[in-house]
This record gives sequence, C-alpha cells and structure tokens, in this order.
Amino acid sequence: MEKTPFRAESKRMLELMINSIYTHREIFLRELISNASDAIDKLYYKALGDQNISFHQDDYYIQLIPDKDARILRILDTGIGMTKEDLENNLGVIAQSGSLAFKQEIESQDGHDIIGQFGVGFYSAFMVSDMVTVITKAFGSDSAYKWESSGVDGYTIEPAKKDGVGTEIILKIKASTEDENYDEYLDEYRLRALVKKYSDFIRYPIKMNVTQSRLKEGSENEYEDYQEEQTINSMVPIWRKNKNELTEEDYDNFYMEKHYGFDKPLKHLHISVDGAVSYNAILYIPERTPFDYYSKEYEKGLELYSSGVLIMSKNPDLLPDYYSFVKGMVDSEDLSLNISREMLQQDRQLQLIAKNIKSKITSQLERMIKDEREKYETFYKAFGTQLKYGLYSDFGAHKDDLQNLLMFYSSKEKKLVTLDEYVSRMPEEQKFIYYATGESYERIDKLPQTELVADKGYEILYFIEDVDEFAIKVLMKFKEKEFKSVSSGDLGIESDDSDAQTSEEASESKELFDEMKSILSGKVKEVRISKRLKHHPVCLAAEGEISIEMEKVLKTMPNNPDVKADKVLEINIHHVVFKSLKAAYEHDREKLNLYTNLLYNQALLIEGLPIQDPVDFTNDICKIMV
Ligand code: ADP
Repeated sequence: MEKTPFRAESKRMLELMINSIYTHREIFLRELISNASDAIDKLYYKALGDQNISFHQDDYYIQLIPDKDARILRILDTGIGMTKEDLENNLGVIAQSGSLAFKQEIESQDGHDIIGQFGVGFYSAFMVSDMVTVITKAFGSDSAYKWESSGVDGYTIEPAKKDGVGTEIILKIKASTEDENYDEYLDEYRLRALVKKYSDFIRYPIKMNVTQSRLKEGSENEYEDYQEEQTINSMVPIWRKNKNELTEEDYDNFYMEKHYGFDKPLKHLHISVDGAVSYNAILYIPERTPFDYYSKEYEKGLELYSSGVLIMSKNPDLLPDYYSFVKGMVDSEDLSLNISREMLQQDRQLQLIAKNIKSKITSQLERMIKDEREKYETFYKAFGTQLKYGLYSDFGAHKDDLQNLLMFYSSKEKKLVTLDEYVSRMPEEQKFIYYATGESYERIDKLPQTELVADKGYEILYFIEDVDEFAIKVLMKFKEKEFKSVSSGDLGIESDDSDAQTSEEASESKELFDEMKSILSGKVKEVRISKRLKHHPVCLAAEGEISIEMEKVLKTMPNNPDVKADKVLEINIHHVVFKSLKAAYEHDREKLNLYTNLLYNQALLIEGLPIQDPVDFTNDICKIMV
C-alpha cells in the first residue's frame, strides 16, 4: 500500500523527536492518556446533551495493556474515536498549536532537552516506538480505520475491524540500547508509577492488569502469580484535592499535562470557594511571556468545567484583559451543563466567579510583592507592560486593581520600585512624584531636564516604555501625590528667592528671547529662562497635557491624530553660551540666527527628536568652526 508522506515541516519535527537524546521520553504516556481522556470528555459531553445516547459511567475508561514478549504497549480508550478524515487531519500533519510553538522554540535553541517542557502530543509516541498503529472507530460511524506509521517516511490508512467506538494506540516499543532503556515502558510497575506521576487525576479510570501473588490453594508456603485488573489512578481531579496533600511538583505536572504553557509556572493559586457561588480553580502565573502574547493570535481564557465535565476549553469571560496571562481551570457546580456560549456570557454565576477570580489574582500579586520580591520582578518583567495597558484602558476603571502592582526603575536605587515605596520615602517638602521619559535608562541618566530634581535629592522614576506616561496620566495621582514630568513647565521646586531673581533677569532678557522665538518661527511656543538646568545650556520642556514623549508615541500610531506638544525652549542663563547669545543680540543679528537654530536643534537631539534638516545643522556647525 502506498504511503502518504508527512508534510515537510512535520517530517523535520519527527526526525528531531525520534533522534533527540533526551531524558523525558516517558512523557509520551502522559500525552497519549491525555488525548484519550479528551476523547472520552467529548463523548461524555455529547451523551449528557443527547438522550438517545445510552450512558453508563462504567463505559468510559482507558486501558493499558503491556506485552513484554511482543514488545507491544496498547493504550485503549472508549472515547469519541476518529473518522478517516480525522485521522488524515489530526495525525497526518504536525501543526497543532502545541507542536507549532515547539517547532519555533526548537529552531531558536539547540533543541537539547527542551521536548520535556512541551506538549508535543501524539507524536511523542515515536520517541519510544519503532512503529505506531492507531485503530479507531468514530462515534456514529459503522466503519473503523487503521493508521500506521514507522516514522518519517509517511503513514498509511486502511479499513479495519473494531468492535466498540473508541481508539486503540498500539506501540511497537523500541529495543533497548546501551544508552537507553525502553523495556521500562513494558513494565507494569513502571507504567503504574508513570500514571501516578503524570495522570493520577484523570477523571476516568485507567485500568491495567497487575500481577499479584497469593498463597496456592491448600498450601501454606507456596505462592502463585495471578492477574488482577486494577484502576491505577486515583481519579480525583487535582482541584478537588486538599491543598495540603499536594506538592509543588503536582501543580507543575498538572500545568504540563494540561499544556497550559511551555515553561514552568512561576506561581500557582489553588482556590476553593463556597458561598453565594461555589467553585474550585487552579490558576497559574507563567514564568515567561508566551511568544505570541502581544499579538492578535494570543487568546486569553480559562478552562471551564461544570461539575467536573469540561464545557469550554477557553472561556475568555473569566479573565480581564489585564490578567490575560493567567492560565488554568475553573470547576463549578453552579453552572448548568447545557448552557450555550451566548448564555454563558450573560450568566450571573459566571460573572460572580470572574469577579472573585480577579480579586484573588490581585491579592496574590500584591502578596508576592511583599513576600517574594524576586519572583514578582520576574513576573513584572514578563507581564508588567500588560498591567500598564490595563491601567490605561477603559479610562482607568481598573486602577484599584492595578496601581499597587506597578513598578518603575528609579534613579535612587537603580532598580524597580513600587509607587508605594516611592511615596513612602518622599521628603516632606516634596510635592510631586517625578518621572523622566526616554529611550533607555542610560539616556535618561544624561537628560539635562533631570538636573534640578536630582540636585534636590528627589527620586525620579524612569519611563522607557511607550505606555508608561499614558498609564500614569490616567492614574493622575497616587496617594494624593500628583505625577510630574521633569520636563514639565512648572516643577514645583524653585524657592521664592530664586523666583524673584529670575523674574528680574527674565524681564532683562525678554527682548532677546522674543527675538529668538521669532527666529524659530512657530517651532516653539516660548523661549524662556530655565530654572531646571545646571550644567547644560539648553533643553526643551512641554507645556500642557501632551508631553514630548507622548507626541513621539502618537506619531507612530496608525491614523495618528496630528497632536503636538507645546514646546518651550529653555535657556540656562548661567551658562557661558548665554553670554554669546547676548553679545550676538547686541552686535550681530546673523550670529543670533545661527546660535538660535543650533541650540534648538541640540535640544531636539537631546530629546531624541528628529531635526528637520540635518544638512543645515551640520553646515551651521561648520560655520562656527571657521
Ligand atoms: P493535541 O492533543 O494537542 O491537539 P495531538 O497531536 O496529541 O495534539 O492530537 C491531535 C488530534 O488527534 C487531537 O486534537 C484529537 O483530535 C486527535 N486524537 C488524538 N488522540 C486521540 C484519541 N485517542 N481519540 C480521539 N482523537 C484523538
């Protein structure tokens, strides 16, 4: 019979998987049992909604049948089965979600030992088998099919015989080599241990014949072996178990088994609520940002069970967008099994659960800041941006949840600090929470605008992400303290003394500054004396709601509104350059022209803004050199 080849990328994946030297081969069993359990879930769910399907709890099970002599391991399930088309679509290509991510990851790393972190599904069977055979009969169909493949060279499908609905996976286990022991996958004790480790909570019985020993009849010291069918998993779902009975490893295994992520979870929450609404939930905060997290492809959601039956694999209504990184499941007895998706959205119970979950996540994260700072910072580096977007969205409606979770890099400690930490160590006379925006911490460090604030000994928060300033604008205040950009017109710092002095100086230089403003013809709203500069000659400041940084961000947006910051050119009158300006004003108007343009362009450069005409600028510099 002719073999159908696997698609090219599938072939490469298979090769990688078959040939990788790696320590997690055993997860193939978890993957196949998980598929079997999913298949039974599907049939079970159908049966609940359809009175024509007769339904006995006992009819649903998974069975393991090892045969040492033939080197064959069979995994049977009484699930929904597959049609011929299903076989082609599901087992003919490796393009399921998990596998695809795996492929991308493996291409970015050297491929060593990372398979264990992945749910690679059905294909993991090839890690331990020379040949894989699938015999299956779909629910509602009279004919069964056999799919067979010995690896990369393709697969065959042909009609087959099978009694009941369901699927049987037959693995021809590889011969052991010096480096690798495959015999263990035929050993009932080892198989039992693997089920305990990875699949204990599967809701359906996993049955296996186990060899037992008993006294021979009529004998007092002679024993004989006999076979007894046993259910080798406890069948209690992990979320119904007592937290005290569970180890960190149990939660980690559940995360892997469920394919919630390809990393290890950073933190889990096990919630059991009994009250106006009752539910159990196991939630995870992943350690790493999923590769598609900030793309449209990423879908948030939690698995939703009703009394232990999976009714939706990704319910988005259970999580607010700003917690879209949370993975896990919710099981409630208060939800009807036959509820449609549309109804579910309106369901009051579900809304209550969602609200409750949201506040549990918030308090968990707040607790992490206090008790597990390092972990929290890992989390924040992965998902902090999402929290800031959350704050910005819906006009700040979620600020109660989010404001305490924010962190920014600060000038004082050169590390991430919370707003609460900032405010709690503000000197009494400090009125505002100061921040500076820029491309990187290094660039902000050098910003002339920070000079006065830093000189006062006030802490400055560094904003390097586009969303930062927008988020803070929505927040407006934290603990009654307003946020203030170091570039804003009024810093609220200057003493009355220097104010008086500068106003005198200002009136003196008024004509010069007016002249400079007209030279810059509309590019700035005002030229004025800087109260914030110490060592630098010049900087830009913004007046009004829109900062220079915001203007930059808005410019990059599609169909951007043509908003501009009101820019003010600030001059340091204690700088030697000011003397040259004054002299030029009095004796050489052409020079004043030149100097003004030079200073303005310098200020733009410092801000990271493009200068309109770089050639003019360099020509100007040449002019002052000769
Ligand atoms: P995943 O489980 O991540 O979708 P797999 O490669 O493990 O990826 O399986 C691919 C698909 O094959 C499954 O989604 C399912 O539709 C089908 N499948 C696998 N095993 C079984 C089974 N025992 N019974 C019915 N369908 C199955």
